[in-house]
Amino acid sequence: EAVIHWFKRDLRIRDNTGLSLACQKAKEKGVGVIGLWILSPQDWEAHLVSPAKCDFELRSLRVLQRKLNKLGIPLHMEVVPERKNVPKRIVELCEEWDAKNVFCNIEYEPDELRREEKLVKKCLEKGIAFWPHHDDCVVPPGTLKTGSGKQYAVYTPFFRAWVAYLHAHPEVLQEPPAPTSNSRGFRTGRFSHLFDEKIPEAPDHKRLEPEFKERLEQLYPAGEAAALDRLQHFLAEQVGEYHDTRNFPSKDSTARVSMHHAAGTLAARTSVRMARDANSTRKLDGGNEGIRSWISEVAWRDFYRHVLCNWPYICMHKPFKYEYTNITWEYDDAHFRAWSTGHTGYPIVDAAMRCLHATAYMHNRLRMITASFLAKHLLLDWRLGEQFFMTHLIDGDFASNNGGWGFCTSTGVDPQPYFRIFNPWTQSEKFDPDGEFIREWVPELREVEGMAVHNPYEAGGEAARVAERNGYPRPIVEHRFARERCLRRFKEGIGRE
Ligand code: FAD
Repeated sequence: EAVIHWFKRDLRIRDNTGLSLACQKAKEKGVGVIGLWILSPQDWEAHLVSPAKCDFELRSLRVLQRKLNKLGIPLHMEVVPERKNVPKRIVELCEEWDAKNVFCNIEYEPDELRREEKLVKKCLEKGIAFWPHHDDCVVPPGTLKTGSGKQYAVYTPFFRAWVAYLHAHPEVLQEPPAPTSNSRGFRTGRFSHLFDEKIPEAPDHKRLEPEFKERLEQLYPAGEAAALDRLQHFLAEQVGEYHDTRNFPSKDSTARVSMHHAAGTLAARTSVRMARDANSTRKLDGGNEGIRSWISEVAWRDFYRHVLCNWPYICMHKPFKYEYTNITWEYDDAHFRAWSTGHTGYPIVDAAMRCLHATAYMHNRLRMITASFLAKHLLLDWRLGEQFFMTHLIDGDFASNNGGWGFCTSTGVDPQPYFRIFNPWTQSEKFDPDGEFIREWVPELREVEGMAVHNPYEAGGEAARVAERNGYPRPIVEHRFARERCLRRFKEGIGRE
């Protein structure tokens, strides 16, 4: 007999609620644990998982397998072509392995919940106990309510309630007991064939070019040890400055752990606990301003997940704010191509998009600028941008990405008011004051001197000549025109309710 832990977005051993409880159950019963990971290419397709993220997950699996094997736990990995067959296949494996208990951590999106619902039914029919656990959020969705008993739709009061809850329930932040090893005989017994399996390959169109793959391996080492190293380095060296520097893309001052949170090689709970412990007050707020500020960013991740659980229609291509359904978008292919390839003639936007292509990552401030530019300046449907991000980001995560797009385009939860339209030139001057980031990613503008780099054609003279000579495009839309068109269109759309 065996107990199964089904790994999903929790590719780690430490601080893993489901795995810890699976090990406890196995110990009680005097049996061993088997790790299970299922790849459903249809899921990767449906959820637009980027090749960079696929690669990161597969690399993380390799590390996980090694760590599990050290505990005498095998990791069985299987590709199930049709996602509707995943529950059936899990039950077949339970029967094959004589497993009466399946543990996992919950994924909250509707497709995943529907899959789990099927699994619950199939397990019940066969007398198998299925144990899904809250683990992905620091505070489980549904825990925090407004004074009138509703889900928070505004971040600031949510964050206050989140902090108060965690101060009142410090046990929520505690690490569950570390998984215990299987007995020594497990490795040589009837499950020996499950050890040292080959890591599955990504489907052809989700594979990275070798050179890009190598670059990403260097930029983002996979696995939980790499995640903890990164976090510890950030907390020791950078977090103190975070509050003041986090908005400046060229400073490289953020933690860069979002890919680990997305793959589950790092639990958000671990991040918050370690940041709290680094604070002199041992609290989530107060004390070091950088730590407080960083913890509040991790809380945004919880916020968007709580919102998704309460309003799952946001997963069905609908804006959170119903009244924004009727905006008339431009469907201009040339503009979308210019945005997505970094040829809009707005240097900060172009630098950001080119950085995304080259690194599968984009700084938060730049995500805000490029998202706003797509929906407000180009008046392109925000969903095109949301999808483009998912298919390119290494940290692509539905709730955070959808939440970010909703926030920046005024269609989502706790949004910027629609009439507040980022001025890309001003944003550029403020957050890339020396033009360092622009010069790094837009080689056509490297020789442009001084502030002219933010808007070379407007600056004229030598700056415009350099831009022209190097083939840098002129702005594809005029700022003042775009602003007025956006205000008009949003107003009309909302009025059409
Ligand atoms: P840090 O600044 O060090 O923050 C620490 C952690 O907090 C992050 O790793 C992340 O897990 C969380 N976090 C920080 N900011 C946010 C936020 N605004 N919303 C939710 N969680 C946050 N984040 C993703 O993880 N996946 C996405 O697909 C994603 N898409 C986004 C799209 C848009 C349009 C916007 C505006 C933001 C998006 N974000 C997304 C949020 C944010 O940009 C990234 O989490 C952050 O840039 C990751 O870098 P970091 O780890 O260095 O962050």
